Amino acid sequence: MLTEERLKGRPVIGILGNRIPNEHRLFAGSERDYVNHDYVSAVEKAGGIPLILPITESIDTVVSALGLIDGLLISGGYDIHPSFYGEEPERRLGYTDQHIDRVQLACVRSAVKARRPVLGICRGLQVMNIALGGSLHQDTSIVSEGILQHMQDAHRWESAHTVRISANSRLSRIFGESCRVNSFHHQYIKDLGPGLIQTATAPDGVIEALESEDEEYFFIGVQWHPEMMLAGDDVMLPLFSAFTREASLES
Ligand code: MN
Repeated sequence: MLTEERLKGRPVIGILGNRIPNEHRLFAGSERDYVNHDYVSAVEKAGGIPLILPITESIDTVVSALGLIDGLLISGGYDIHPSFYGEEPERRLGYTDQHIDRVQLACVRSAVKARRPVLGICRGLQVMNIALGGSLHQDTSIVSEGILQHMQDAHRWESAHTVRISANSRLSRIFGESCRVNSFHHQYIKDLGPGLIQTATAPDGVIEALESEDEEYFFIGVQWHPEMMLAGDDVMLPLFSAFTREASLES
């Protein structure tokens, strides 16, 4: 068991992972549970203890594991099946896995119910929005006029575009009025779920961050990949530090 002494006051951050087909020919047909190492290293750098949460067969299993953690980090991944926000698949929809969707949506709802701090990244932000009743544009090409390049062709740590940050948001206390972010998404938020507010916006109007309208509750989603930007410099570290600080209040 994890004991108070062994944790040394550091919050345990559950990183909700993903599942991919194993491409090694010896094990063809099997799958791997994984998270990219950038998430692990970001949590550790911000003083947290990373704990990878797998996509289990039963939703109850991973939801029960939320009892072990002080904060929930939702990693990036595949597209979410549009049936979860009441739409049919458009032609530009990418690969989907509805079991991963169901597990992650249940985890977000359970974390919200328990008021555990949540930080969602890229697909993580999209899962947070859909869990609370929001929807997505399935591809940037569907609303093409004036839309910037949101799938950058450059190193993962390099910034691509700016975002304007809403005053009085948690993000504005971390980054001020604006910041530069990387961009690796072809989908983006259409309608925000009830109880959520838009707190960062790209110059083309794309929603780049959301927060809970409940100022007391840490529930932040960002469309960019701050954990990847840490491979370049520490500009994004304060976001993870704010998250682990909030989670440590829970521990
Ligand atoms: Mn973007």
